[in-house]
Amino acid sequence: MDKQTEFVLRTIEERDIRFVRLWFTDVLGMLKSVAVAPAELEGAFSEGIGFDGSAIEGFARVFESDMLAKPDPSTFQVLPWRGESPGVGRMFCDILMPDGSPSYADPRHVLKRQLAKAAELGFTFYTHPEIEFFLLEQGFAKGEVPTPIDQVGYFDHTPHGLGYDFRRQAITMLEAMGISVEFSHHEGAPGQQEIDLRYADALTTADNIMTFRLVVKEVALEQGVYATFMPKPFADHPGSGMHTHLSLFEGDRNAFYEAGAEYSLSKVGRSFIAGLLRHAPEITAVTNQWVNSYKRLGGGGEAPAYVCWGHNNRSALVRVPMYKPSKGNSTRVEFRSIDTAANPYLSFAVMLAAGLKGIEQGYELPPGAEDDVWALTEAERRALGIEPLPTSLGQALTVMERSELVAETLGEHVYDHFLRNKRQEWADYRRQVTPFELARYLPVL
Ligand code: GLN
Ligand code: MG
Ligand code: MG
Ligand code: MG
Repeated sequence: MDKQTEFVLRTIEERDIRFVRLWFTDVLGMLKSVAVAPAELEGAFSEGIGFDGSAIEGFARVFESDMLAKPDPSTFQVLPWRGESPGVGRMFCDILMPDGSPSYADPRHVLKRQLAKAAELGFTFYTHPEIEFFLLEQGFAKGEVPTPIDQVGYFDHTPHGLGYDFRRQAITMLEAMGISVEFSHHEGAPGQQEIDLRYADALTTADNIMTFRLVVKEVALEQGVYATFMPKPFADHPGSGMHTHLSLFEGDRNAFYEAGAEYSLSKVGRSFIAGLLRHAPEITAVTNQWVNSYKRLGGGGEAPAYVCWGHNNRSALVRVPMYKPSKGNSTRVEFRSIDTAANPYLSFAVMLAAGLKGIEQGYELPPGAEDDVWALTEAERRALGIEPLPTSLGQALTVMERSELVAETLGEHVYDHFLRNKRQEWADYRRQVTPFELARYLPVL
């Protein structure tokens, strides 16, 4: 038994933990959980716990349904909102086939495979997400426009603001689970919050994002409000993005940094951005996977709609944040299209694949765009070679269907399942006759 496993078993005994939740994530990024008694854990660590994979979105067909969840002891944490006694712990799992090989359907495995590819090239991949979400009043009916908990905006601090009590409570809980938070503030829209996690290797960050969503929803319920990661709940306010800062390290050296270079960006950094830009349209269905995601991307409010990069340009898809001379190791690129309702494992895998492709093929970085690309005319954008991102889920799927990069990165099973599931969502949406159409056409046609 390794040290980490021993540590988990000892902690469970010492802290009187009676339930251990085994967590994993389905293809669409929904958290799944099965609770086991501590007595089952030794078996879980050595062989995994069996479950019916055909009941999990995207995992297996009924005739090949047996799967195993094997907990990763390095992810063990006690759930702070469940109280001390008896305590409840949790671990993220890897999903295995009955013969013990990794499941091709497990999003965590998809990311691990891509991280191994980066490791072959000598790189470790770090990410740091800025997570935006809305706090709403509870009790809205299905289909009704909800009410945000406040009417304030970016960085506002008001006496008795519910938002900062909420943020303090949520951050305390995240920190209790070993998740470090760097910044938090009220975001631009009414009721909108942002909490930024400290950078960590991409697998840890993806696990942390899954935990984050649950913690935020739990704390919200405790405080009598409702938290949502829906990308664009309000037509007239900005949506919720999950801008993610990306960097590659070679050992403890930041591979994106080069002293004296423009924006202190190394050749590796420049080709990584070029890869992100070139492959952005084909990975968008993964990073922005819902019909509603495209309402955010098309709606302004500092969400990107065009494929370009800039230094200080908040309408760009990729931004290279201000360089602090004392902080060479903090050189990074911010990828701004991904939203808070994406599957973080699959998204990080395709973002990394795009960047690595740029490095491997030595893509040249096109010139940066320092103007507000939203304010340019279509013709001006065309002259600058600035392409739009897909404007709907349907369009994004069409581009993804032709993408070798995404097929290879997700693997055949996840790729096919994802496309099939999302084609259905798009078809369901297209059948709708919306309130917009009734209001606009019925009175005049
Ligand atoms: N909410 C904006 C988005 O959708 C981002 C706002 C900001 O952080 N500057 O991406
Ligand atoms: Mg921010
Ligand atoms: Mg923000
Ligand atoms: Mg940002």
